[in-house]
Amino acid sequence: MNKTGYYTHRDCWKHEMGHDHPECPARLDAIEDRLLMTGVSDALDRREAPTAALADVELAHDRMHIAALRGLTDRLVDEIQAGGPPHAQLDQDTSINAFTWQAALRSAGAALAATDAIMAGELENAFCAVRPPGHHACRDKAMGFCFFNNVAIAARYALERYRLQRVAIVDFDVHHGNGTENILAGDPRALMVSFFQHPFYPYSGDQHPADNMLNIPVPAYTRGMDLREIIEMMWIPRLEAFKPEMIFISAGFDAHREDDMGQLGLTEQDFAWITLRIKDIARRFSKGRIVSCLEGGYNPAALARSVEAHVRVLADL
Ligand SMILES: [Zn+2]
Repeated sequence: MNKTGYYTHRDCWKHEMGHDHPECPARLDAIEDRLLMTGVSDALDRREAPTAALADVELAHDRMHIAALRGLTDRLVDEIQAGGPPHAQLDQDTSINAFTWQAALRSAGAALAATDAIMAGELENAFCAVRPPGHHACRDKAMGFCFFNNVAIAARYALERYRLQRVAIVDFDVHHGNGTENILAGDPRALMVSFFQHPFYPYSGDQHPADNMLNIPVPAYTRGMDLREIIEMMWIPRLEAFKPEMIFISAGFDAHREDDMGQLGLTEQDFAWITLRIKDIARRFSKGRIVSCLEGGYNPAALARSVEAHVRVLADL
C-alpha cells in the first residue's frame, strides 16, 4: 500500500487568470510530467480531490466572502454567455474565470480529504497538487492569486472534526502567508512557522501579531544554508515544544533560486532538507501526519524538480 497520497483534480487546470499569468495550469502539467517521468507517481496513492463543503470553508472564511465569490462567478458566467470577456478582475493580479469557484472548492477539498484519509489511517501523509493556491486568502477577502485558504481550512477542520488539540502550519513559500496569519493568529491550538523574503509582497509579517505566529523575515538573496540554520535554531525548538498532532505545509516553491518571482536562493536539495526536518517532527509528535498543499512556484522546471524532491521525502523514496 502506498502511504503517501497525491490529490488533484482536472478542475484545477480549468481555472486560469489570463494569458501570460504566472499562476497558470502549465504549473500542474510540469509537476505531473516530472512525477511520471521519474517514476515517483508509481509510489503515490493518487486520489481525486472532492469539492469542499461550504460549511467547512466557513471554518476559515466569512460567509460574506464565500457568497461574494459565488455571486461574482454567477455574474461572470452570465456575462460570458452574453458575449462578455472571460475574466473578472478582483485585484491587480488576481482574477476569476468561469471555473475558478469550482477549482477553489477542489483545492480546499483536496486538503480536507487528505486530512480525512490520514486521520482514518489510510495514508500517512499527502501532497495536494492544487491550484488556486491559498495562503494569501484572508478571512474576508481573496488576494495574491488565492481565494480560499486551503491550509487554514484543513487545519481548522482537523481541530474541529477530529478534536485535535494542536496543529502546526509550516509555510516555506517565498511570500509571507498573510492570509493564514489573518485566520489563525491568536488561536492557541495552531502554531504557524514560516520564513519569507522581506520587504516583499504582501509587505506584512514583520510585526508580531500573536504568540502562535513564528514568522521570520529574511532579506533578498538569502541562501539555503542560511535558511537551514534559521530553521534549525528557530522553527525546530518551537515545533518540539508545541508537539503538534498534525502538520500542514504551505508548500510554495517560489523561493527557488531559479524562480524569478522572488529573490531567495533555495534549491530542490534545500526543499528536500526542509521536508525531512518537518517529517522528523511529524514522526516524533504527529504519528507522521502531514498534509502538504501546493502554494507558489512559477518556474515550471524548478517547480517540478522541487515538488519531486519534496514528495520523494514524504514517500520515503
Ligand atoms: Zn509565493
